[in-house]
Amino acid sequence: MKKWSLYMGSYSGIKVFIHWTFWIIIGWIFMMHFQMGHGWAEGLAGALFILALFGCVVLHEFGHALMAKKYGIPTRDITLYPIGGVASLNRMPEKPSQELAVALAGPAVNVVIAGILYIFLLSNDQLLPISEIDHVAGENFWFNLMTANVILAVFNLIPAFPMDGGRVLRAVLAFNLDKLRATTIAVQVGQLLAIVFVFLGFFTNFWLVFIGLFIFLGAGAEAVHESAKSALVGYTASDVLVQQYTRLSPLETFEKAVQMLRNTQEQGFVVVENDQAKGVLTRKELIKGLSEYGNTSPVYKVMRKDPIIIALDMPLQEVYQNLAANNLSLALVVEDGQLLGIVDIKGINELIAVKKGLKLPKFS
Ligand SMILES: [Zn+2]
Repeated sequence: MKKWSLYMGSYSGIKVFIHWTFWIIIGWIFMMHFQMGHGWAEGLAGALFILALFGCVVLHEFGHALMAKKYGIPTRDITLYPIGGVASLNRMPEKPSQELAVALAGPAVNVVIAGILYIFLLSNDQLLPISEIDHVAGENFWFNLMTANVILAVFNLIPAFPMDGGRVLRAVLAFNLDKLRATTIAVQVGQLLAIVFVFLGFFTNFWLVFIGLFIFLGAGAEAVHESAKSALVGYTASDVLVQQYTRLSPLETFEKAVQMLRNTQEQGFVVVENDQAKGVLTRKELIKGLSEYGNTSPVYKVMRKDPIIIALDMPLQEVYQNLAANNLSLALVVEDGQLLGIVDIKGINELIAVKKGLKLPKFS
């Protein structure tokens, strides 16, 4: 289960969660309508509209997830936040044509929903003039939902990371370019676009300033992550396998573990009992454990009992994302029940640095 999130159900093996902060938005919409003197009925209608809108966002995320599934890529979950939905795909496909399909599948869902609502409204003679768009009220429910889906599709197709459009652009560029190069160009186009938005926004619609800033900030973080990931294309766990690592007994004391940590550059230790890996102990758990239990306690008390187990041929991109998603710095490489070694984040980062032609960070 996911922290701070409510489990809503699953479809095609993909679980859907709603983060608790999402309910703040629902409550806020209700209060806004209520306080404007519209009464609770309108408040409810406003809240219902937001729920319907976010229902469409979930369908959008399923568009990505189900297309990815077609290419054999699992999705951990779909979580709804106040800013939108997130489908946590284990990785993006390496083939540009497949990445293009996965990126387009989300906005395509909104286009289809808008199309269905358009036909529904047309056949009921309920199409409104464009000037009515701002009016979010109960009686225009379906019209507003149609408009919102058009906006969702257009907004997501802005060719800038972290939008779907950024991925579309990268995928199109990657048909002819190296993936890392394609990512770099896509990121730069996105940031340039963000600056243009902010600039234009000052003279036209202030919302553009807001959207521009959002893209610019989002693009920065995404750019680092994306270019790191694309540097890992073609590598597997075996390329950074570490066979020299420290094994600890579950009964080893914190004191001893801390002492060992000081004498090594390792990210953490593997806790082994009878030749079986029982868990991992990273710096973070060790520090937490020390303050909680004191230095004579055994390490099994705080070790992570849910280590990430990977195969030698697992794409490194997938390992990297797995580690980030689980907030761990090392994974165990196991084949046929045999612990072959570990892959740690330091090794992956070094590979990324080499691949990008950067200087290696110094370790003291
Ligand atoms: Zn999307």
